[in-house]
Amino acid sequence: TVRTRIAPSPTGDPHVGTAYIALFNLCFARQHGGEFVLRIEDTDRARSTPESEQMILDSLRWLGIEWDEGPDVGGPHGPYRQSERGDIYANYAQQLVDAGHAFKCYRTAEELDELREARKAAGMQLALKPADLALDADEQARRESESWPYVVRMDVPTEGVCVLEDMLRGRIDVDWAQVDAQILLKSDGMPTYHLANVVDDHLMGITHVLRGEEWINSAPKHQLLYAYLGWEMPTLCHMPLLRNPDKSKLSKRKNPTSINYYRRMGFLPQAVTNYLGRMGWSMPDEREKFSLAEMTDAFDIQRVSLGGPVFDLEKLTWLNGVYIREDLDDAAFLQALREWAFNEDYVKQILPQVRPRVETLSQVAPLAGHFFSGLPAIDEASFETVKLEKDTLVKLLQFLVWRLEAVPAWHKEALLEEVKALAAYFELKMKAFLAPVFIAVTGSSASTSVMDAMAILGSDVTRARLRHAIS
Ligand code: ATP
Ligand code: GLU
Repeated sequence: TVRTRIAPSPTGDPHVGTAYIALFNLCFARQHGGEFVLRIEDTDRARSTPESEQMILDSLRWLGIEWDEGPDVGGPHGPYRQSERGDIYANYAQQLVDAGHAFKCYRTAEELDELREARKAAGMQLALKPADLALDADEQARRESESWPYVVRMDVPTEGVCVLEDMLRGRIDVDWAQVDAQILLKSDGMPTYHLANVVDDHLMGITHVLRGEEWINSAPKHQLLYAYLGWEMPTLCHMPLLRNPDKSKLSKRKNPTSINYYRRMGFLPQAVTNYLGRMGWSMPDEREKFSLAEMTDAFDIQRVSLGGPVFDLEKLTWLNGVYIREDLDDAAFLQALREWAFNEDYVKQILPQVRPRVETLSQVAPLAGHFFSGLPAIDEASFETVKLEKDTLVKLLQFLVWRLEAVPAWHKEALLEEVKALAAYFELKMKAFLAPVFIAVTGSSASTSVMDAMAILGSDVTRARLRHAIS
């Protein structure tokens, strides 16, 4: 049976790119009567968080993407979280070392820097090969007996061409000279993506790997690992990456990339999924609007076109409108509103914000409007009350966007830290610093607390509003 998988790393917000790749894996599996697996690649212990994992699962489900096996639903090939499979990888790493396909590397970070510098100065390929990394036998033995930290690296050819087959791209040639002696096991005993990915795809019976084209350069290493381990490699298919309208790689610097954003902005899941299905793919009759079931029925991977698909917010917004008009009767419309923001959980967060500021209930909606809206209608004139040079104002908001991008856990205390640090940098009192932020986020200079609003609105909507204020 055909088995595909999505293998997200839970290191941040749930990316639309993840949903896009998941969707195509799902359709491919369903079209062949196969199975679709969700595996969490959380070997980067410093960057992986359970919150991120939960958000990824929630957002994919929200979009209607369901998996047959995964960390939350179980299955015969578990555990489905790489952090719970450490022994498996260590065993295979040892097996590779014993067979001479991998070696323990005791090189220090300084030595590696020196090696790279020397190669750079000599104008040589930067990929380090086993021979470059080798220590003389005595030194290797000394470091081993003194228990220096080491990594396990794979052996790689120094010359020749690696020939890969890709379902969409056909034959891909990569010079072995470009491929380094990849680390397989880190000094903490954790596997790298490459080892864990190959081992798991094999043990989980994955037959087809559909993933972003950013992984093409890793494929030679994977192919070699399959050969070393005597396993059959799954069929590869590298999908085109999503693009910004300016054709650059879709990035959160330019466009919202988190599914949370689209959810918070009131997009319907069926419209987002439909739109993702239009990324590089079309129905045989080219129609724009189709359901996931219709996409699955008509799916054919060969209809994927490799020219970078543009993720265009305007088009998505248009399609969403079509869904609201054509597919939602009053009951469904009401239900959609409930699921979105007109529900107890969300409204409860807003009550403490409005209670001290209203005298009648009819004042609530105007005061709390920014909790139920997208981007506020503001322009330069909206900032007239702010006593800052325009340059400073723009810089302040831009710096804030950048700092907020890096906040790992979005809650009020963490946001306050960022704001305080930036206010100090601009040598402004908090009140003066927050004045323009207030207008950008709430759309008015008299509203509820801006710090609370940011915390409630979430990272994506907040950052989008700040960006909108500068644009
Ligand atoms: P950004 O440039 O916005 O920071 P990123 O590449 O750092 O994006 P990650 O958080 O590393 O984003 O990626 C999360 C997941 O989304 C990965 O699985 C990655 O393959 C996928 N992804 C990121 N960008 C794209 C894209 N343009 N098209 C398709 N998938 C993408
Ligand atoms: N964990 C990788 C990611 O986050 C998986 C890549 C793959 O599909 O091989 O994209």
